Amino acid sequence: MTIIDGKKISEDILNEISLEVEQRTNKGYKTPHLAAILVGDDGPSQTYVNSKINACKEVGFKSSLFKYDNNITEKKLLEEIGKINNDDDIDGFIVQLPLPNSINQENILNCVNPNKDVDGFHPINYGKMTLGIDSFVPATPHGILELIKRYKIDLNGKKCLVIGRSQIVGRPISILLSQSKEFCNATVTLAHSRTLNLNELTLDADVIISAIGRPEFLTENMVKEGSIIIDVGISRVKDDNSNKGYKIVGDVDFKNVSKKTSFITPVPGGVGPMTIAMLLRNTLLACRKND
Ligand code: NAP
Repeated sequence: MTIIDGKKISEDILNEISLEVEQRTNKGYKTPHLAAILVGDDGPSQTYVNSKINACKEVGFKSSLFKYDNNITEKKLLEEIGKINNDDDIDGFIVQLPLPNSINQENILNCVNPNKDVDGFHPINYGKMTLGIDSFVPATPHGILELIKRYKIDLNGKKCLVIGRSQIVGRPISILLSQSKEFCNATVTLAHSRTLNLNELTLDADVIISAIGRPEFLTENMVKEGSIIIDVGISRVKDDNSNKGYKIVGDVDFKNVSKKTSFITPVPGGVGPMTIAMLLRNTLLACRKND
């Protein structure tokens, strides 16, 4: 059994990005610049944005944080995005989700300039990804693909079950893995909360990608011997032994399931660290296009 080390791979990617930034600087090219829009004071959102800003510093990117109150109107936010769209120094930007209920998320994401849409959520980029045309691929599925590539896991013809159909993880990874591309070519099934007899599907799958956010949902009796497990879930569960009073677990009962697998990602340290690395890679790509 091999534990897929997402922390190590993400560090490799960040080092590769740093090196390219250094080379660009030496040649007089522009420093990549990522901006983040944060609305309101949601704790986890602030933590995620801070991690992205810190990662920018680590690789030598410029970064900008645009913070707005919870009560900003949709119209005003659209105006602010318009300014960022027109700011030539900013190569890419993200709108940290979720947004307050008073704001229509779709309207906001649709107004991001597709050339700066490093999250890959604009319909143009999402459509291109679906068609297999080069585009900004959303960071988490992109990170999963990168782990598969760097561990040289060939999914050709394998039965791959994706559990969870969100726009940011489950659906895009199911599309990507079914494409006729190197390391993909899987036979993909996409399961969700209405799926019947999920156990039959999990037991039949060569590969399971779980993105549902239910702590340790996938248990040993649900997976077959030799399977490949990618755990995207991140949940906080009470832990009296931790100073924080909680610990982070994935969708998979790692301790018991791992015994039956050929490859498995841990939580933390699997898919999670890859997400920021791939966001920065998209930003570098956006910057290169402006050279
Ligand atoms: P989401 O939007 O809440 O979607 C969850 C999906 O899981 C839905 O499609 C839902 O089905 C399905 N689901 C829920 N319970 C199920 C069950 N018992 N059986 C089968 N399907 C079930 O979640 P998300 O944004 O994709 O995130 C999923 C998890 O990944 C969360 O823990 C999140 O924190 C984590 N995450 C991690 C990263 C990372 O960087 N590692 C990035 C993003 C998300 P329905 O569609 O029918 O409701």
